[in-house]
Amino acid sequence: MFEKPLLVINGVGFGLSVVLSMLRHSLSFRLKLLLHSISSSSQSSSTPEKPRNIVIVGASIAGYTAARTIAQYLLPGSPYRVVVVEPRDHFHFTWVLPRFCVAEGHEHKAFIPYGGYLPAGSLEADGGKVAWVRGRVARISRDAVTLEGSGEQIPYEFLVVATGSGAADSLPSRVPAGDKAEGVELMRQMQRRIKEAKDLVVVGGGAAGVELATDAKSKYPEKKVTLVHSRAAVMHRFGPRLQAAALDGIKELGIDVITGDRVVSEDKEKGVAVLKSGKEIVCDFLINCTGQRPDSKLIAQLSPSSISESGHILTKPTLQVQDDSLPNIYACGDVSETNTTHPNSRSAMRQAVVCAYNILSGTEGKKPKDTYEPHWLDGVIKLTLGLDKSVSNVGNEKTEFIFSIKEKDEALMAAGAWHKLGAKPFEDDGSFLSKIKAKI
Ligand SMILES: Cc1cc2nc3c(=O)[nH]c(=O)nc-3n(C[C@H](O)[C@H](O)[C@H](O)COP(=O)(O)OP(=O)(O)OC[C@H]3O[C@@H](n4cnc5c(N)ncnc54)[C@H](O)[C@@H]3O)c2cc1C
Repeated sequence: MFEKPLLVINGVGFGLSVVLSMLRHSLSFRLKLLLHSISSSSQSSSTPEKPRNIVIVGASIAGYTAARTIAQYLLPGSPYRVVVVEPRDHFHFTWVLPRFCVAEGHEHKAFIPYGGYLPAGSLEADGGKVAWVRGRVARISRDAVTLEGSGEQIPYEFLVVATGSGAADSLPSRVPAGDKAEGVELMRQMQRRIKEAKDLVVVGGGAAGVELATDAKSKYPEKKVTLVHSRAAVMHRFGPRLQAAALDGIKELGIDVITGDRVVSEDKEKGVAVLKSGKEIVCDFLINCTGQRPDSKLIAQLSPSSISESGHILTKPTLQVQDDSLPNIYACGDVSETNTTHPNSRSAMRQAVVCAYNILSGTEGKKPKDTYEPHWLDGVIKLTLGLDKSVSNVGNEKTEFIFSIKEKDEALMAAGAWHKLGAKPFEDDGSFLSKIKAKI
């Protein structure tokens, strides 16, 4: 009876504690910046010849947030700088990928120009303390990362591994392309194939599969759409109310749902998808929306014992890797194991901020003291159920809230994400790319 009010009180308390912690850190860092500017105006500053690197591997929501937070508070005279290594030329906004694989004309909106989320003037090209390398880290050692291709080594004093999940995955969960132009083309191909298909089979009843199947059926009601999910219920990782709402939305649209079975092969000549049970479903386009895997191989090579059974990087509450011999390596976002029930962008951002605060303390010779505690409120999810409907859901293992929403914007929250990441929707002049490097 009291579960819901208690949940609300708990949620409000958590929200307040997050805001207070941010304020506390912001005040403390701003005070340091002020004291620094006063003292440095009376002293001549000496910049060391070789800056000490804080290397951030991966600049999706976790790595980009860590880079932004460190850049925001690194003292101007600090011997440290941030070095971001990221192979993509744009930030990939995952939330809209299933939608933009179906709805045409929005695909460019999933690629948000980098740069605007960093504090103004913080790129090295602008005289600041962030070096941005377009590249991929092939391996890491205890004191350097090695870039793929060039083999260039970048030494580090602090390292943030934010390589996420799904690097090897394909649309609609991830865009398997480093270039925006190629990514846009891949999405258009997917739209065309969906448009031309008569019998669509969607594999995986998690968020990506449910959103893609419902969007496709909602846009093309004449098509036969079948959703196959290996578990007993779609959205099985979430609470029963969201599972039921998702199933209702799917059925209302007339999608066939097969649960407790899995697609084992596709016979393209016969035009069927073959299920484990032996059943065959007519299929002229099969879309795989099954789960993503954490991309933890960099740490797996260096510290195999720091990898969980699920392939995530085991972390301490401070988000240092769970290996006492690697105190300067942090992991955050989808790649890390933090006991977060539904890892998502919110939990990734909170973790990134904790990593950033701890590294900033480290640059002053202090021990890390900020910790990350998972909270159910991070797990809030908005699930689209066709082009004009969505349900939002949040809760813990005991109770959950669910809200149905009538959607008006086919591009969903793309414009909001551009704003949040400091970019004007949907202007992209490529100026950031002209400032970054292929090597240090
Ligand atoms: C279809 C879909 C919809 C989603 N919707 C929502 C939503 O509505 N709300 C929400 O909160 N969350 C949502 N999520 C989850 C959210 O996208 C992830 O939680 C979030 O992207 C995790 O961010 P991350 O930075 O940890 O990793 P990722 O986003 O996985 O990014 C990892 C980054 O690391 C880079 N990288 C990888 N390997 C290397 C390397 N060796 N060297 C250099 N760089 C490397 C990659 O290029 C990439 O930029 C959704 C996810 C999907 C797939």
